Amino acid sequence: YIREDRWPTVWCPGCGNGIILKSFLEAYDQTGLDPDQTAVVSGIGCSSRSTGYLDFNTMHTLHGRAIAFATGVALARPDFKVVVMGGDGDITAIGGNHFIHACRRNINLTVIIYNNMIYGMTGGQHSPTTPAGKIAGTMPLGNVEEQFNVVNLALSAGATYVARSTVYHYQLTVKYIKEALLHKGISIVEVLTNCHTYYGRYNGLREPWQMMDYFKNNTVMKEKADQMTEEELKGKIVIGVFRKDESKPDFYTRYRLTYANQSKGE
Ligand code: SF4
Repeated sequence: YIREDRWPTVWCPGCGNGIILKSFLEAYDQTGLDPDQTAVVSGIGCSSRSTGYLDFNTMHTLHGRAIAFATGVALARPDFKVVVMGGDGDITAIGGNHFIHACRRNINLTVIIYNNMIYGMTGGQHSPTTPAGKIAGTMPLGNVEEQFNVVNLALSAGATYVARSTVYHYQLTVKYIKEALLHKGISIVEVLTNCHTYYGRYNGLREPWQMMDYFKNNTVMKEKADQMTEEELKGKIVIGVFRKDESKPDFYTRYRLTYANQSKGE
């Protein structure tokens, strides 16, 4: 599945993007899906470079517009598995509108969000997922904005599969991406990852392993989190599967079921 002529990647040594890409490849390998009937779409950003390394049908598109392009592919080729890969800035800021409406419409897409809590490629600006108080190039005294909870955003917009993992939890990430790839309708997998070059450097986690330690020590599985109080959950990242609803038809199926007869003039 890899374009070896484009290897090695341009990512900083130790960047978590490679772990997510590897998780995707391992998960994909377990699904039995056909690469000739798979399209992977990305926008712009460090994580969006992923499509350049893949030997699938790939589209490297405009900043924030990966989901819009992917929606077009999913509607034109309902026989395809369509995957979107992008960062927190690309998908929840510039592409935020596309994200919520793709969730609402239950478009048949798998969206893998590489959430490193900062804009990497453009030099460390704060994004919608930068935690309040954390340092970014554009918030040198600490971020004064509140962060998006991507899982809650996807759930409230109506996504039918929603999961969160981190690059420290490799096997879980593989499992969730595999489930997402086999899901019919929109599936969202948020993977928290390290941009040690910017987020880490600004916030005392300069080495990749420091961010890994952070994920290891500050995550809690959803099942356990459900038993914990709000106070106990402060500062914790909850990981797990938050929704898996196979009962709702995806947009294309629903549209065809509703309008198929009319288009035949019946
Ligand atoms: Fe990874 Fe950050 Fe380097 Fe981009 S800038 S490749 S996100 S470590």
